[in-house]
Amino acid sequence: MSFHDGLRNKGRTRADMDDRRKAVESFTGVKLEHAGNCTFDPIVAEKNVENMIGTTQVPLGFVGPIKVNGDHASGEFLVPLATTEGALVASVNRGASIISASGGAEAIIIKDEMTRAPVFRTQGVRDSKRVVDWVDQHMDEVRSAAEATTGHGKLVKVRAFASGRSLFLRFSYDTGDAMGMNMCTIATEAACRLIEEGTDIKLISVSGNMCVDKKPAAINFIDGRGKTVLADVRVPAELVGDKLHTTPEAMVETCYRKNLVGSGMSLSYGSNAHAANMLAALYIATGQDAAQVVEGSMVSTTCEPCDEGVYLSVRLPCLEVGTVGGGTRLPCQSEALSMMGCLGAGKAKKLAEIAAALVLAGELSTLAAQSAGELGKAHKALGR
Ligand code: NAP
Repeated sequence: MSFHDGLRNKGRTRADMDDRRKAVESFTGVKLEHAGNCTFDPIVAEKNVENMIGTTQVPLGFVGPIKVNGDHASGEFLVPLATTEGALVASVNRGASIISASGGAEAIIIKDEMTRAPVFRTQGVRDSKRVVDWVDQHMDEVRSAAEATTGHGKLVKVRAFASGRSLFLRFSYDTGDAMGMNMCTIATEAACRLIEEGTDIKLISVSGNMCVDKKPAAINFIDGRGKTVLADVRVPAELVGDKLHTTPEAMVETCYRKNLVGSGMSLSYGSNAHAANMLAALYIATGQDAAQVVEGSMVSTTCEPCDEGVYLSVRLPCLEVGTVGGGTRLPCQSEALSMMGCLGAGKAKKLAEIAAALVLAGELSTLAAQSAGELGKAHKALGR
């Protein structure tokens, strides 16, 4: 009997988890003392992981209060960050205090659509056109088929992209307070069955890589995926000098040469200092899908002089976050969401605006540190 045969039918109870971990310990010769010290009933994670042997503990810190002037998040928030990068929390916290002292971050959501793009095989370009026309003419039935699978998802639109015998239909959904990837996949599969029956073409994959999930892609950068959020702040020159030890002019030049010229030279998607840092730490703390930091990282940060001192903004085209479903139901992650009043129904847009302000705080602090020549000093003091 193989190692896996012996474990295949094990259930979800704590005893099952302990048995499984002991088998792993015996196979590897490594005692998993900390991983086994799980504080919640493993049944809670039954939709989140298979072969569960315990939990991984990631240090949790917080930044704030950060003042957010959003349409859904309004007030001061403490934001949980789970990370192993020393100096990250201290740096973002500095940015948060400057934003609050400057009157807060404006934050708005300009688009909210999660996408899934199946690929079909057609007979050729004319056949692809025939199918696209059929979908246009039968949009009500396509929408009904998709929405019959969910009580919360709404099909917003379907966009077609064809090349040779490959036809991609990019489905966009309003997913309510869920990040929505499972919801969109299930709904799109139902719509695809209707399209296959109605047009006699073959679905090759429900995900044709024009969605685009967990891969960097220009279509997401331009068109957005999940929530597209903008945030900005005007920081008075006195704060830039007293608290950030630099000048508005030096910050503007650093942003221009680094974020614009440097990112352009390297053909980066997005032009930012380290947006992925704030998103990864927030995603891990709050039970988001951490792999979606890939598209989340495509942030554009701009910095300009203004009457007060310096104007800083971030554009987050792909903020794929939810406050129900996925990892948000896990105990530590639920607590982290609750810290911001962001757990459950009606809170996803609030979380998105806080996330945008958080990224702005991290960008502000790091841009200032680099223009003051202090980046290495902070990491040396706090991270080594
Ligand atoms: P989910 O946990 O699969 O489903 C969440 C469900 O919660 C919704 O479908 C909805 O049910 C229900 N719900 C209750 N109240 C809601 C509200 N206020 N707003 C919206 N929905 C509400 O979560 P998901 O967000 O669809 O998918 C996230 C998970 O997908 C993550 O675990 C992620 O890792 C994983 N994922 C899956 C794929 C994939 O291709 N399948 C890809 C990437 C990631 P109804 O639909 O019945 O209304």
